[in-house]
Amino acid sequence: MFRKILIANRGEIACRVIRTARRLGVGTVAVYSSADAGARHVLLADEAVAIGPAPARDSYLRADALIAAARSSGAEAVHPGYGFLSENADFAADCAQAGLVFIGPTVDAIRAMGSKSAAKTLMAAAGIPVVPGYHGEEQSDACFLAEAERMGYPVLLKAVAGGGGKGMRVVTGPGEMAASLGSARREASAAFGDGRMLVEKYLSQPRHLEVQVFGDTQGSLVHLYERDCSIQRRHQKILEEAPAPGFSAEQRRALGTLAVAAARAVNYTGAGTVEFIAGPDGQCFFMEMNTRLQVEHPVTEFITGQDLVEWQLRVAAGEPLPLTQEQITLSGHAIEVRLCAEDPERDFLPSAGTVRELRFPAEGPEVRVDAGIQAGDVVTIHYDSLLAKLIVHGADRPAAVQRLQAALQQTQVTGVRTNRDFLAALAKHPVFTAGAVDTGFIAAHREDLLRSPVVASAVTPADPWDTVDGWRLNGPAEFCLGADRPHSAARSAAPVSGVLTAPMPGRVASVHVQLGATVHRGDVLLVLEAMKMEHSILAPADGVVSRLNVVAGEQVDEGAELLLIAPAP
Ligand code: ADP
Repeated sequence: MFRKILIANRGEIACRVIRTARRLGVGTVAVYSSADAGARHVLLADEAVAIGPAPARDSYLRADALIAAARSSGAEAVHPGYGFLSENADFAADCAQAGLVFIGPTVDAIRAMGSKSAAKTLMAAAGIPVVPGYHGEEQSDACFLAEAERMGYPVLLKAVAGGGGKGMRVVTGPGEMAASLGSARREASAAFGDGRMLVEKYLSQPRHLEVQVFGDTQGSLVHLYERDCSIQRRHQKILEEAPAPGFSAEQRRALGTLAVAAARAVNYTGAGTVEFIAGPDGQCFFMEMNTRLQVEHPVTEFITGQDLVEWQLRVAAGEPLPLTQEQITLSGHAIEVRLCAEDPERDFLPSAGTVRELRFPAEGPEVRVDAGIQAGDVVTIHYDSLLAKLIVHGADRPAAVQRLQAALQQTQVTGVRTNRDFLAALAKHPVFTAGAVDTGFIAAHREDLLRSPVVASAVTPADPWDTVDGWRLNGPAEFCLGADRPHSAARSAAPVSGVLTAPMPGRVASVHVQLGATVHRGDVLLVLEAMKMEHSILAPADGVVSRLNVVAGEQVDEGAELLLIAPAP
């Protein structure tokens, strides 16, 4: 086992890795940006090294600074956590070059799974079912139209280099293809420096199922059962559970076997997740493989009684897997919710601020809190919005659901907007408690989940010029606010006769219009970036750009006037 490891991450995952390392007697080195000097992970670790200023690209994404920190502190291995450089093959290679063990899969496995289209082609060749679709080199609009016609609408465009739901668009008919391709390519180019697209059949009411897999350097590969991550907003998970509700033992065995076969196709080592999408008939198709530990790994830990970070450390140190497939048993049911600094009433717009009060349920054998924050912390725009995870376990699903409801009651955060009330409403919703979930759950039950006094008293504006700003998160190409849901807080950031303001502080990632340009309702005017998400500002109505106050790269404060759209003459 290692004597000392460096954790190339922050927040709850860094704290969580420290917890296991400490139990195993492994020393920990935290790294921190200037925004995180007093952060929880820094206080918890044995040692801490400053790696640069607040923006992630100047600190947590700087491979050279991380490797220098590992060397100067005498760490032997680097745990990348998730996000940041965890799936970056070059970083894994740099670690090896510097004589450091990268706690993750091989460089080749990361590369093989890094492109959604290459991974699908590889899996199809290995006999794993993939969603019907087109993952080819040819990128013309005509080609996408022909492929969509062949598989039948609706179809889903995805960025080949994608992640985080960016560059994804549902296209319901040929008339939408050109515009959707255009905006998806722009979003993907801005986010990944790669605008290539793939298109696949859009499944209606699917479930997101994924399987935890683990491989060691001796060639053993096992799975630790599945997780159901169907409850999503903006195509991003917010609640995960294990095992999948309503799954038979036979379906479970079949999916586990499929996942191990997928991992074997790339000689997988370490922790990985094979993601599947399941149609209403229960048929599962490979979607992608994540070559790292996942945010939702604790639900798997609860149902199997294993510590997956310990497994990662042991495998990276060259030890064999602690258990064989037959020895991995499943017990009870576990659910995790992600407590995020975001505002569900404004289409889950991330929010920044200072955490004033913080209260979590007491931890115990069936309640776990993985937190990355403490009272007094500043939630900045530089990192993602995940504050903490509440994870509960019960003898069966109803018991776990009940425990989740209680845990959310006992959770309180003030000073920064969070999704706690939304999660509490979700945990009580009859469709959720019945286990009848699919990825459209939140969209379908939005009204019930958001019903709160503030929202209920808001007035629906009739004219687009009166409505809230043109904010759209990276979800469907439509107004997220104007038509669904005005809110008093959103109204305060609303345009007055076409002035578009920033609803939160952020960085202007790209500007898509010039002064004097004619724009149409729904056009992407500019893209703001905050808390690892990109937000497209859309034209609220047809008009002309009569004022443009920002340029790409600029930081803007909440409420800053970005541009003015005047009605077309
Ligand atoms: P990303 O890597 O950007 O997060 P994924 O490919 O993992 O994107 O997909 C994210 C989510 O989008 C899935 O969990 C699912 O809810 C939805 N999704 C993906 N592919 C399809 C599809 N073919 N049909 C319907 N929904 C899909």
